[in-house]
Amino acid sequence: MHHDRLMRMCARALDQGAQLVSAIRIRHDVFGDCIDPRSVVHFGRPEPPALDRMVTISPGKRKPLELEFRVRCNKCKPCSRRLQNMWRHRAVGEVIVANFEKRRTWFATLTCSPAYLYRAKAVCEEEAVRTSTTLDGMSAEQQFHKLDSVIYRDIQRWFKRLRFGRRGAKAAQFIYLCVTEAHRSGEPHYHLLITETNPDNPLLKAAFRSGLWPGGYAAFKLVSSPSAAGYVVKYLRKQGGRVRASKDYGLAMERRLRYSDPGGSSCERPEESTDAGGG
Ligand SMILES: [Zn+2]
Repeated sequence: MHHDRLMRMCARALDQGAQLVSAIRIRHDVFGDCIDPRSVVHFGRPEPPALDRMVTISPGKRKPLELEFRVRCNKCKPCSRRLQNMWRHRAVGEVIVANFEKRRTWFATLTCSPAYLYRAKAVCEEEAVRTSTTLDGMSAEQQFHKLDSVIYRDIQRWFKRLRFGRRGAKAAQFIYLCVTEAHRSGEPHYHLLITETNPDNPLLKAAFRSGLWPGGYAAFKLVSSPSAAGYVVKYLRKQGGRVRASKDYGLAMERRLRYSDPGGSSCERPEESTDAGGG
């Protein structure tokens, strides 16, 4: 990182309560109640003509400045509890606003048949070989993540079919929250909240039937109340639980407030993807 930029970051961190732990290291704790914080260190190396900006420790010994952040692990119990609460609030908020605007939310469960899993595992094996490893060479956790990522690609294709409409089914517009749950056997299945974004292009049950989920069993029902939507996060409690969501998922409340505030500025948010292993 550029030295000047790191200096500005250090100044801001010190303003917000960071500590100077040695002559060259500033530590900023932003891990809240996490019990297993991770350390992220930034170094500031000055350009060669400006070497005088190095910190001189003793004659002849000069070192670059270091800024260490201690951040949440997103895996321990307090971290998963916090993630669960965050996603619960987002899901409930999204459904409250949707109900108000006469948009419906579906609760979907997608499971994987043995035949489908067999194919998905073959894809994992093939991709692992390309990176000079094998599935057996990975830990159980890595294997699960790999399988999850391969299956999630099919979920994205399934979304695409719903969005474009197929075999006479109308195209639909929606946003989603997708929670991966590890089954007792270690195989994933998926719980989704799919909220219509345009009441003129609703998501009909016929669309689910024609835009078939290739993995096997799929169930759909309408979400009856906002609090019911919050239950989807309970599947995060288990090891391997993971959330994926549309770009603006959970910001409905904020969006409404912003639109009612003419001075409000808009901001972009990247696709959220969060791991939340149970402790
Ligand atoms: Zn943690």
